[in-house]
Amino acid sequence: MSLRCRDCAAGLEHCHGALIHHAYRREECTEDGCLSPPAAHDMHLDCSAIGCECDHVGAVSAHRVG
Ligand SMILES: [Zn+2]
Ligand SMILES: [Zn+2]
Ligand SMILES: [Zn+2]
Repeated sequence: MSLRCRDCAAGLEHCHGALIHHAYRREECTEDGCLSPPAAHDMHLDCSAIGCECDHVGAVSAHRVG
């Protein structure tokens, strides 16, 4: 596997991290400080795939105390 992908070689703005799509939050990238737009990501994950339950929290209660 090469360290440089085709987009790297072409000098295009892109990200090698996975963009995580949340149901009730902004999407976030696995790369710290990633500034690439969503479309610049090769890999996209549903937040439930990483154990996030923001969609459940949003559906049950917005004000969970305790
Ligand atoms: Zn690349
Ligand atoms: Zn989430
Ligand atoms: Zn990224």
